[in-house]
Amino acid sequence: MRWIKWIALAVLLLALSLTAGWLAGVWYDNWQTLQEDCRRMEAELEASREEISRLQEQIFLLEQEAAEKETEKETEEEMTDPAGIPAGTVLAEGQAAKNTDAFFQIYEISDEIFARIYGKSYKEDCTVPREGLRYLKVLHYNFDHQVQVGELMVNQAIARDCLEIFRELYEQEYEIYSMYLVDDFQADDTLSCEMNNTSAFNFRKVTGGESLSNHAYGCAIDINPQQNPYVENGVYYHENAAPYIDRTGPGEHMIDHEDLCYRLFAEKGFAWGGDWENPIDYQHFEKDPQTVG
Ligand SMILES: [Zn+2]
Repeated sequence: MRWIKWIALAVLLLALSLTAGWLAGVWYDNWQTLQEDCRRMEAELEASREEISRLQEQIFLLEQEAAEKETEKETEEEMTDPAGIPAGTVLAEGQAAKNTDAFFQIYEISDEIFARIYGKSYKEDCTVPREGLRYLKVLHYNFDHQVQVGELMVNQAIARDCLEIFRELYEQEYEIYSMYLVDDFQADDTLSCEMNNTSAFNFRKVTGGESLSNHAYGCAIDINPQQNPYVENGVYYHENAAPYIDRTGPGEHMIDHEDLCYRLFAEKGFAWGGDWENPIDYQHFEKDPQTVG
């Protein structure tokens, strides 16, 4: 019976070794899988790290872009601050559209402006107090149909009217050659007219007379004087006005009763010099200083 014991033992040993082999195989497979999992997770971690640094880089770029845009916005705001833009400046396309209201402003007379007009349009014996005048910044289309900055000095009593009129002229793209204070022409009306400049306040007497002009009160405005001359007894004073004395034909920039400029001033109660008999002053719109308050 001894051999039966040996056989049983051998079978047992065989079974044990088979089981051990099987277990070792299973363990090895698991170990392999774990190794693979580890490698996969490491790769994933690496990918995540790369993604994080890519996102950080993106955030940095976006922050930089936002900062640049902020600077651009500030520069734009500076550019569209009309206080800093002198009359005669032609604006870039679209620049005015962004901030039109800011270009149409009424200002009290600052020291800087007063220094510009004192001794010129604002003579030493000027009877209109400085507080009675207003400085207007506006936009207008020039004769090349570009948007240009303009300025105007008027009586405070008609400042609002003028701002509204010039705003509407601008909206309707009405062309005005230029709008500088007459002081840029040494307050010389003739010189300003010869340069076809649109202006208002000038403490001076009426043309060819002794009484004060309504321009002296800032209650009169001359528009495009070359195309709209002052004519007295058939005589005109500016050579450049010659083609515009005959008012029968339609002419560009010539004011008549159909003209937008005439209609807007008339709506606000201004009288037009073109309606006078003699002299006739086609460029001239005024309100009576005695009645405007
Ligand atoms: Zn006038």
